[in-house]
Amino acid sequence: MIHGPCGRAFSKSPCMKDGYCTKYYPKIFSRTIVIEDSGYPSYRRRGTGVTTEKKGVHMDNNNVVPYNAYLLMSYQAHVNVKYCNKSNAIKYLFKYVNKRSKQGSNWSYKGTFNGEDAQVIDEIKQFYDCRYLSACEAVWRSLAYDIYQRWPSVMRLTFYFPGEQNIIFKDDDDLEEIVEVEEGKCTMFLAWMEANKKIESSQFFIYAEFSNQFVYDREVREWNPRKRGNSIGRLNYVSPGTCDIYYMRILLAVQRGCTTYESIRTFNGITYSSFQDACYSMGLLCDDREFITVINEVAELTSGN
Ligand SMILES: [Zn+2]
Repeated sequence: MIHGPCGRAFSKSPCMKDGYCTKYYPKIFSRTIVIEDSGYPSYRRRGTGVTTEKKGVHMDNNNVVPYNAYLLMSYQAHVNVKYCNKSNAIKYLFKYVNKRSKQGSNWSYKGTFNGEDAQVIDEIKQFYDCRYLSACEAVWRSLAYDIYQRWPSVMRLTFYFPGEQNIIFKDDDDLEEIVEVEEGKCTMFLAWMEANKKIESSQFFIYAEFSNQFVYDREVREWNPRKRGNSIGRLNYVSPGTCDIYYMRILLAVQRGCTTYESIRTFNGITYSSFQDACYSMGLLCDDREFITVINEVAELTSGN
């Protein structure tokens, strides 16, 4: 495990760049291990006076590459031992052991730029600058393992005006029969109001918080107290152009423990005739916030046209 010889006299050595050894050999004698500002250790090197000869050059302890004697003897091979204790150690675990070129590309393409505009972005070249997958990542993707996780789960919360719920049925189903079956049944939204009737008012949550404390059972269409895990509730999107259901959505984001449609538009004991009026009385629409929110939302959701 002797590095070199390198230096001025051996400028063709692979470690040499601009007249210097990129691995900083030969090192210097040191009584103790020193952790340098860069975070890399500078190991103890004792001046034992022991030398060896390689390509006609006398080399001493300062040319020895850090090694593990047990591994060298076991494998009878060059073994480079590194101790890593940083978060970027992942590089050593997965990338370094498969070290090859970082990028594989067989394409050759030359952008032709006319004029002096140096700021031209060569998108074709950018496209051809392929990404190199290491063996680990290639196998991971080939075997279709998950490449991301999502936690906690996000639950889409439905809401609607009385009798306007979505119902899924097959083409050849009998419509009258479906209406009959579905009419008396709860939905996620109605079940939320039913659940509010049963729980104590101190436990009242807004609709979006509800799924964090309760689990919706789709079979029996009931919300039951959650035993483990959690879930973030999100109210379905509603366009501001739909008017009153949009205002109901605003109210659902603040009203707690609603048990009926009327209770959603009730504030300080007064039941308002429309959801919009209730929004006004609660001070939810008294400034330009509503319009600013809508403009911001549109800017994110829609295309230029
Ligand atoms: Zn060197």
